[in-house]
Amino acid sequence: MRRVIQTEVDVSLEKDGYILVGKVDLLMGQDLPAPRPGLFFVYVIECANGSHYIGQTEDLCRRWVEHLKGNAAQWTQRHKPIRIAHYEEFSSRKEAVERERNLKTGYGRKYLKRLIKSGQAQQAGNKLELLDFKTSERSTDAGLLSTYEDQLCTYAHVLERRHGKHPERLLLYWTAEPDKAAALMEIPYRPEKVEAGGRRFDQVVSRIQARDFTVHRLPEIKVCKECDLKALCGAERRI
Ligand code: SF4
Repeated sequence: MRRVIQTEVDVSLEKDGYILVGKVDLLMGQDLPAPRPGLFFVYVIECANGSHYIGQTEDLCRRWVEHLKGNAAQWTQRHKPIRIAHYEEFSSRKEAVERERNLKTGYGRKYLKRLIKSGQAQQAGNKLELLDFKTSERSTDAGLLSTYEDQLCTYAHVLERRHGKHPERLLLYWTAEPDKAAALMEIPYRPEKVEAGGRRFDQVVSRIQARDFTVHRLPEIKVCKECDLKALCGAERRI
């Protein structure tokens, strides 16, 4: 089961002397149940200190992201959420609230520990995928592909550092590719690409700061419209 759990995922990173701004189009969870009208979840989050946080919600995907971001509860803000160790489904809020209360008792917590230890708990939130859209046909340009690999591996690294979650798959989707079977491209995660990408970003930024560059050919106007530097280029009358 694959679910969109967040769009426009911010993967910006503070580097020495500059901020690398980045956004991935989609973050998907392969094992998170979709919300449905009349469906409620009781969930148990395992935190980094070994504790279990118990809650209930009608949208487990959204709630999981809120916990990861530290916006859901003080407990998971202080104790990093690692995974959804168990969840159950109910057809009314009342049943979910009763079950939540029951699991929070001493007996309920002992039951949960046994269940999770036995490997029979219903887990989720372990499998993430990153998907980035490219608005062109599938490219065969090795240099461009290498740049996209650096970017996606860096985004995966940032996501892991920020939320403690390592995406299992990194994907590019070429939206203008006529052969739809070839539109999706999987990029392998390679830690050395993160290092290489970091070095390249440092070099580019230091050249910009030293004004050591020449604009031979302006990109298409639609590229500039989306660019974070358009105010600067406009002020310098480059565009
Ligand atoms: S706004 Fe400036 S930096 Fe951005 S794409 Fe256009 S020319 Fe390049």
